Amino acid sequence: MSKPITDLIHHPYVPPEGFAAPQPGVFKASTVIFPNTAALRSRDWKTKDGYTYGLHGTPTSFMLEERLATLEGGQQCLLTPSGLAAIMNVDFALLKSGDEVLIPDNAYGPNKALAEGELKGWGITHQLYDPMDPADLARRIGPATRLVWLEAPGSVTMEFPDLPALVRICRAAGVRCALDNTWGAGLAFCAFDLDGHGLAVDISIHALTKYPSGGGDVLMGAVLTRDESVHLDIKLTHMRLGLGVGANDVEAVLRSLPSLSLRYRAHDVAARELALWLKTRPEVAQVLHPAIEGAPGHEHWASLCGPRDAAAGLFSIVFQPSYSQAQVDAFCDCLRLFKLGYSWGGPISLVVPYQVASLRSGQAAQWRSKGVLVRFSVGLEDVQDLRADLAQALAHLS
Ligand SMILES: *Cc1c(COP(=O)(O)O)cnc(C)c1O
Repeated sequence: MSKPITDLIHHPYVPPEGFAAPQPGVFKASTVIFPNTAALRSRDWKTKDGYTYGLHGTPTSFMLEERLATLEGGQQCLLTPSGLAAIMNVDFALLKSGDEVLIPDNAYGPNKALAEGELKGWGITHQLYDPMDPADLARRIGPATRLVWLEAPGSVTMEFPDLPALVRICRAAGVRCALDNTWGAGLAFCAFDLDGHGLAVDISIHALTKYPSGGGDVLMGAVLTRDESVHLDIKLTHMRLGLGVGANDVEAVLRSLPSLSLRYRAHDVAARELALWLKTRPEVAQVLHPAIEGAPGHEHWASLCGPRDAAAGLFSIVFQPSYSQAQVDAFCDCLRLFKLGYSWGGPISLVVPYQVASLRSGQAAQWRSKGVLVRFSVGLEDVQDLRADLAQALAHLS
């Protein structure tokens, strides 16, 4: 983990002449002035050796793009107004009417909603596949399949798939694959080298909204690639859709990036401590944390993320089936430090109660018998205070 993090901090930024501060400037612009008509006409918007228009990049946004590429081991990066906009950018760039996209059944919900809504309306079909069964993915890839989404672990139920196996299936079928790498944040594993021999996803997207921002105060996404032609396809759509980001938001992420690995580790350590403690509680039927033994896909997490021993600050628990939704809701309402909210990755710990069966289509049966699930995002508070908060809320259950 140390190399990309060090490179992230010691980045070859060149400050303006005579102002040798290492922190980058914040440049804001809608328009960029050209010195003459020849320069205006010859400006190639596709390259980063100059500027065209505020929407297409400023020195500030280019810098964040370069640092994210450094962190992720990618070659190109595009910033989008949100993580979901990054997903949309990839879908809209790579899919045309008549094409099909495959999405894991446990994917981030709005990814599926986009497929069920706009994509369907435009004649782009989708299928949900079981990410824990590579053979299911292989079976579903057909002549119309143009894109496979991957997520590790899945949202909310946190199953960790055999990511290298899924990517190999896409490679063998000649279908592009895009990973939603928000959980890994470029730290838990390398999306562009999954097996130590260069096995790579085609595209890695991030919700910078989460750990890279870390403040709970920015919405932004990123699309990372290694292939110039894939990048250009996505960039063209990015431009046509008018996707831009604000310089103040870019600055906030740039400021947070150097502490990303420290924060990620702190969230991770505290989350594992709380998850292990919850596992000992009689109210809890199952702890869904990929780094904890017994969780679905733990062995895949161990082989991909074990060398870096990294696992973010997210986990879920399934309550014993004897507890009703109303009781679990009351547990959540009793929490004082853990707040009710969705967008994780910031300093404040969060919970969301979910009805698991409603989140799943294909494998709903497997979850239907289970109790109510609560997803935890562990913030940066003192872990003893968080545990005491959980204990007092659990006491209200019985
Ligand atoms: C939050 C999240 C997103 C979307 O990010 P926004 O910036 O909120 O749009 C995408 N994927 C995953 C896995 C997320 O957790």
